[in-house]
Amino acid sequence: MKSFDNVHQREIDRFDNFSNIWWDLKGEMGTLHVINPLRTKFIMEQLPPNPKILDVGCGGGILSEALTKAGARVTGLDLSEASIEVAKRHAQSQNLQIDYRYESVQDVADIEAGTFDAVACMEMLEHVPEPGKVVAACAKALKPGGQAFFSTINRTPKAFLFAIVMGEYVLRLLARGTHTYSMLIRPSELKQWNREAGLDFARLASLMYNPITRGWKVAPNKEDVNYMAHFIKSKSAK
Ligand code: SAH
Repeated sequence: MKSFDNVHQREIDRFDNFSNIWWDLKGEMGTLHVINPLRTKFIMEQLPPNPKILDVGCGGGILSEALTKAGARVTGLDLSEASIEVAKRHAQSQNLQIDYRYESVQDVADIEAGTFDAVACMEMLEHVPEPGKVVAACAKALKPGGQAFFSTINRTPKAFLFAIVMGEYVLRLLARGTHTYSMLIRPSELKQWNREAGLDFARLASLMYNPITRGWKVAPNKEDVNYMAHFIKSKSAK
């Protein structure tokens, strides 16, 4: 096992333990499969054809595969080695070419600085000790004019009620203990980290859950519980 900075080992241990259920549509990762088309569209509708995308915290590859099928050339990284193994095997079984790596975003950004058209970092920032450093590494990996997409969960009383109490305990949309309230992220904080990393805010949307239909939809320009945000590296940036 390699050692890395800016990682909570207990979080990685949880994802290692869950690695066998990434592709179980009815399991505790099922919600990621349900929201996957919505977030894939949020990302791909902004990009040129065949973009080179870095998927940071790719887990078992749910998003990486969808982006690949939509025409992207994807590199996926994660510090859960077991998850990376699952992702590799699954892509192979689907005949998809995806470059999966058990490496940190800091390392990939150092070696391949300025080479990606886009970075996607979904449902990951709320699991790391210093999310601002992840944002900075994502910015470094991008070409000038490159685009960054983050999704996470807001830190508000409503988010506590819906994402943690309802999501994990009542409706069981997620495994218990998936999220820690204090690690959730407000849009203002995400915007601040991006500003500091030289990325300009472009747009934000929330993923709204309807418990009656059990469906999700995208609400543009809304800061709710589960949100996605899009930033752009200025053309003159290094
Ligand atoms: N992005 C995927 C998986 C989200 S779950 C999706 O949305 O489908 C969060 C993932 O982040 C897990 O796979 C976990 O192992 C990974 N992770 C947590 N801390 C990390 C870190 N410091 N660096 C890279 N990946 C990390």
